[in-house]
Amino acid sequence: MIRPARRLTKVLDAINDPRNPLWVPLQFSRYLAESKSPLKEVHDKVLFSLTVDMEQDFGLPDHLDYYQGIEKGIAPLLDIMQEANVSTTFFVQQTVLTGHPRIIESVHSAGHELGYHGKEHEVWGDARWWLGDDRILTRSEKREYLDEDINRIEELIGERPRSFRAPYMVANKGTLDILEDSGFVCDSSGAAYHGVEPRPLRSRGQGLVQIPVSADPCPRIHLTPIPHARFEYLQTSTLTRSGIDGALALARSILSYQVLHGIPPHLVMLSHPWEYIDHGRTPGPGFDYAGKANISHLREFIRALKKLLDLEPVTMETLAREVGP
Ligand SMILES: [Zn+2]
Repeated sequence: MIRPARRLTKVLDAINDPRNPLWVPLQFSRYLAESKSPLKEVHDKVLFSLTVDMEQDFGLPDHLDYYQGIEKGIAPLLDIMQEANVSTTFFVQQTVLTGHPRIIESVHSAGHELGYHGKEHEVWGDARWWLGDDRILTRSEKREYLDEDINRIEELIGERPRSFRAPYMVANKGTLDILEDSGFVCDSSGAAYHGVEPRPLRSRGQGLVQIPVSADPCPRIHLTPIPHARFEYLQTSTLTRSGIDGALALARSILSYQVLHGIPPHLVMLSHPWEYIDHGRTPGPGFDYAGKANISHLREFIRALKKLLDLEPVTMETLAREVGP
């Protein structure tokens, strides 16, 4: 049973969602404005963070016993990163910390940052219309999980986590306050699916820099099944669905927007280990892009980015320090 207050939150969220058919005229005018803005060439160094969220397969609440992605997907990702001289941030979930500590150590000893991604892929913000999972954390649960897992990570690798990404990219102000109190310097929970502007922001308490997964602020209008807006963001499925050229075009569009608006050029890409292995069956058509072929797509994408840009791969902690306002 969904409580009436939560149902109301979900309804309001659906109304406010910029992808909602109601907002198509508004989003279409944004589309026209953005698509007419001049394309800027990027000559500066571009900081690039190829982030990996370490969680159960597909991040789904009913998959908490399945970790094929962690078991088979991390090793090839580490190989690609070593080959391309990339160090980055792996956001790790509690169940992976406790279930696969040796894999976590291998990530750390390969020189990557370990960030935090919650306990079991629960909700660290308010109810969302599209989230069936209603396990929304209370303030005290957030504190409890953070305290426990900061200690776990510190015991395992000798360092406290400094970067956070909320499951589903859903966080609220309460979460940001607790993160800041706990010594985090970077939060990457900005809702890229809402087309959040690719601009770093500093929290009110000043200690935390919010850097979203990079999204194109120019919405695309889709006419079926009913007219609605969508926002493209840099993620593994972009490589499969739009091809390397499509992913490069998306990166250029994001960077061009940043240069035009005085934002230090940077790219944050979202990926998950379960996207890089073959699955006998996926939970739905939304996950059909997952598979081993993505390993070579990713390798090719990094090569192409390096050819096109003066690319400097960094962790999220470094990115927060370098591009934080
Ligand atoms: Zn996740």
